[in-house]
Amino acid sequence: MCIFCKIVEGEIPSNKILENDEFLCFHDANPRAPIHLLIIPKVHIEKFQDAPASIMSAITPFIQEVATKMGLDLSGYRLIINNGENGGQEVPHLHFHLLGGTKLSWPHFSKEATHKSL
Ligand code: 5GP
Ligand code: ZN
Repeated sequence: MCIFCKIVEGEIPSNKILENDEFLCFHDANPRAPIHLLIIPKVHIEKFQDAPASIMSAITPFIQEVATKMGLDLSGYRLIINNGENGGQEVPHLHFHLLGGTKLSWPHFSKEATHKSL
């Protein structure tokens, strides 16, 4: 069982923000922003590339509810999905990173130039 499935099952503790039958939101253990949450489907889906559209549709109002609950709906926030090895995904269970609580920078994500494609 993957670590996020263990969090869903309660085998690994987490600091939960919101949950319903389908989805769970909890604090990231290694926050990169004043607010750094993870939002996951309770069902094990390895990565975004495998995700059915129905899950992505259903998770949208859940994420919006989390943002409102955390007071980020007006100030703004960033959603990130890391998909697969080059995307930097470390935990093989689909998750959104929700980051906020400050003005986030927009860093370079790769040392390789991107202007070639412009
Ligand atoms: P990824 O790199 O897969 O997109 O992100 C995985 C995230 O999960 C990382 O930001 C990491 O800090 C977080 N994480 C890994 N293990 C745990 C854990 O056991 N509990 C919590 N709350 N977060 C975790
Ligand atoms: Zn899992």
